[in-house]
Amino acid sequence: MVSAQGDPTGPGDPRRRVPRTDTVLADPRLVAAVARCGRPAVLTAVRQVLAELRATAAVDTSRPLPPPGAPAAARSDATVAAAAGRALELLPEQATTLTPVLNATGVVLHTNLGRAPLSAAAVAALGAAAGYVDVEFDLATGGRAPRGRGALAALAAALPDAQGVHIVNNGAAALLLAVGALAGGRQVVWSRGEMVEIGDRFRLPDLVAAAGVEVVEVGTTNRTTLVDYQAAVTARTGAILKVHPSNFRISGFTAAVGVAELATLGVPVVADVGSGLLSPDPSLPEEPDMATALRDGASVVTASGDKLLGGPQAGLLAGRAEQIAALRRHPLARALRVDKLTLAALEATLRGPEPPAVAARRGDPELLRARSARVAAAVPGAQVIAAVGAVGGGSGPGVALPGWAVALPGAAQLLVAALRRGEPAVVARVERGRCLLDLRCVPVDADAALGAAALAAVEATGCL
Ligand SMILES: *Cc1c(COP(=O)(O)O)cnc(C)c1O
Repeated sequence: MVSAQGDPTGPGDPRRRVPRTDTVLADPRLVAAVARCGRPAVLTAVRQVLAELRATAAVDTSRPLPPPGAPAAARSDATVAAAAGRALELLPEQATTLTPVLNATGVVLHTNLGRAPLSAAAVAALGAAAGYVDVEFDLATGGRAPRGRGALAALAAALPDAQGVHIVNNGAAALLLAVGALAGGRQVVWSRGEMVEIGDRFRLPDLVAAAGVEVVEVGTTNRTTLVDYQAAVTARTGAILKVHPSNFRISGFTAAVGVAELATLGVPVVADVGSGLLSPDPSLPEEPDMATALRDGASVVTASGDKLLGGPQAGLLAGRAEQIAALRRHPLARALRVDKLTLAALEATLRGPEPPAVAARRGDPELLRARSARVAAAVPGAQVIAAVGAVGGGSGPGVALPGWAVALPGAAQLLVAALRRGEPAVVARVERGRCLLDLRCVPVDADAALGAAALAAVEATGCL
């Protein structure tokens, strides 16, 4: 007999109470979920719920069976709605697993949290560029137009000393392209004091070698002089490379040679300024900027878009017309090409309002103190204490950002773990055994949500 062999819909089987998959899928909430998460995800969730129902129905003899021959009526609307509701719980809010977090670490450019948060203007630009867009098309003539010309024009306007500009995928790509185009198959002369690891075991000398460029090391870790460079420059030299050691500081008996002096040696200078300051910023006196490196005579200057500039991940290149033209034509340029979303967000960052990362770095301490007091008031036992934020992202390593933070009562490690798993997810910082919430990088309109999340974490960890 077939039903005895496990046909779940045999006339006497209690699993007949379990609704059909397509009936559950027709629930309006799941129709909306299909638009949000895609059909496969919704189908998987529904099948899981129905499998659970079948498993319980098979052992549940307390309720009467639907009469044979009337299956549709028996599978009641309430059962269908309950199954759909349960499937909905299994589904994520969105089709991506990336979870927005409140950055309460006080570290403005937190590499693990995606570096710079975009301005509302940049987010709007991303949305506008998501569909068909004239990224490489001239609406006036109907012909092809230079790709990303709006973002390029914005970068050129921000750097009047540049004869040419170009945009690639990130800072590392900008450096790769610059040395590959200027010194591919030849040598770059580079100080031992500037051979940086930028993170996660990625080292710039390996990147330069990957561009087919031989590195000629000069000087020592702490001291390199113009004479060192002079002695190393030969007919095989394609460029001198000047890299800002952006994520560490050395002090004491040191010497380094600036771009202006290197530019006197008759070889193109590639300057990687790293953090993407377009012009000098008095609050970051040790941070090099693109405009100064250009004025000092660098042939090509490279930088990141998502560090101090506060934009999307991007690599910025600016320099002399001939060299920028050469790197645009290099085969690597196509592999490192930036997408329309980046172009849109970068242009809006360059032309638009102050990005959140810049505002957070300049955050007014008194305002931070007042906001911290309001958040602390939501959590019994919380205190407002003086706290120092950081630029982060391998930028301004010695720079302290004075401010305030909310110190939560209780076991710090338990609290940070509870905050991470909360809704919204909050990334806090532990300092001297206390869990601190630094509001510097938290949007003002999220203060109330942060207070509620903090209270929930304190309660959940049993500290009240
Ligand atoms: C950050 C940095 C890079 C790499 O830039 P990404 O945008 O992270 O690829 C390269 N050089 C310097 C000096 C940097 O600071």
